[in-house]
Amino acid sequence: MRLSPIPSNYFAEFHRNFRGDTPETFRVCADCGGACEFNKIGTLMPGEREYMAEVAGLSVSEFSERFLDILLMEDGTELDVLRLINGCPFLDRGTFECNCREYKVVLCEIYPIDFQVHEGHVHFGIDDWCPIADTLRFRRLFLETGVSAVSKLPVPVEWYQHVARYDDLYFDYPALEAYRTDRAKPQTFTLEELLRFQRAGLEHDPKERFHPYPAEVIAYQPLVTIASTSASRPLGPEPSREEVEPR
Ligand code: SF4
Ligand code: SF4
Repeated sequence: MRLSPIPSNYFAEFHRNFRGDTPETFRVCADCGGACEFNKIGTLMPGEREYMAEVAGLSVSEFSERFLDILLMEDGTELDVLRLINGCPFLDRGTFECNCREYKVVLCEIYPIDFQVHEGHVHFGIDDWCPIADTLRFRRLFLETGVSAVSKLPVPVEWYQHVARYDDLYFDYPALEAYRTDRAKPQTFTLEELLRFQRAGLEHDPKERFHPYPAEVIAYQPLVTIASTSASRPLGPEPSREEVEPR
C-alpha cells in the first residue's frame, strides 16, 4: 500500500525555492566527512521517486532498481528509502558530493532540519548533531527558507508519522549491507527488521572527529531561539519549533 503520490510540479517548485547545499555548507559537509550518509536513513516523500526518476531520465522501475529499497510499515504502508548500503548510492566517495544535487531527496536537501509529530501536527526543528547547525546563519537559512519550502509540499501527516519512527535514529550500515541479499538489487525491509540495525555508538560522529571547528563556526548555544517569522532573532529560554498543518 502506497500513499497518494504528490505531483511532480510540487517537487520542482521546492527545488526552485530552496537549496541547502551552498559552497559554504558543502565545506562543512566535506570536513564532516558525510556523517549523515553513513548513519541515517534517507526517505523519499510520496511521489518523489517518480519525480527523481523523471529528472534523472530513467523509468521509475529503472530508478528503483538502481537506487532504492522499500521500507514496509506495520500497517502495510510502503515507503521508498535510499538503498540501505554503506554510503548512499548517489554519494561520490571521493568528494562527498551528492550526485543528484538538482533533484536531491527533499529530506536530504533540508537537513539539518528535522521534525517531530505531535497530535497530528508536524513540528520542524534543527538537528544539533549536524555540524551545519553550529553556525547561526546556516540555522537561519534552513529554519527560514528550508522550513517554508518543505511546508508547501502537500505531504500527508501519515507519512511524517511513519518516518518519525526511525528518522532520528542511527544505523549500522555495514551490518545492514552484510544482511541484505544483494546490494545491487532493491530489497524490502520491515520496520522491525530495520530497527534491529540501530547503532548506539556512532561511527563517523562529526562532533567527535572534527574538533576544533573552523573559526567561522560558532558553538551551538541552546538558548538561542529562532522564531520562524521574525526578522530579528531574539534570545530566549525556549527553543522554538515551526509548526505546520500538513495538507
Ligand atoms: S552530518 Fe551535516 S555536516 Fe555532516 S555531511 Fe551530513 S549534512 Fe553535512
Ligand atoms: S541523495 Fe545525496 S544528499 Fe541524500 S544521502 Fe544520497 S548523496 Fe547524500
